[in-house]
Amino acid sequence: MRPDDKRKAKECIFCKIIQGTLPTQKVFENERVFAFKDISPQAPVHVLIVPKKHITDILDVRMEDASVFENLFLAAQHIAAQLGIAGSGFRTVFNSGDHACQTIYHLHLHLLGGTQMGGSMTG
Ligand code: AMP
Ligand code: ZN
Repeated sequence: MRPDDKRKAKECIFCKIIQGTLPTQKVFENERVFAFKDISPQAPVHVLIVPKKHITDILDVRMEDASVFENLFLAAQHIAAQLGIAGSGFRTVFNSGDHACQTIYHLHLHLLGGTQMGGSMTG
């Protein structure tokens, strides 16, 4: 990690959640990823799945870290089953940058479900 990235990671809310210095409602954890309930849920099930490594967004994923996507989606599969929404269906979303309203610059996969969602994905 470059010195600038280290500084950013130190101030990052999701890094603090992963490290246990900010309280959260943990849903799942393994060696590579951590998942917790969104503080402002937009569906009955709204979980954020994050890599333990501080990566800011999709554009920041380097080839050597590309397995992060595998890890996030396999965790989504596991959590969907764990929370009973695998059969009814769910949505997975990455927001990247301003137009997508990304607010936290630590890569995260939103897992949403537990209700019938609308067909529009752009609000
Ligand atoms: P995004 O807009 O894609 O960057 O999503 C960031 C998400 O993080 C939002 O859905 C917020 O509600 C959520 N969030 C912000 N702070 C916390 C926190 N301390 N614990 C859990 N979720 C959070
Ligand atoms: Zn972070």
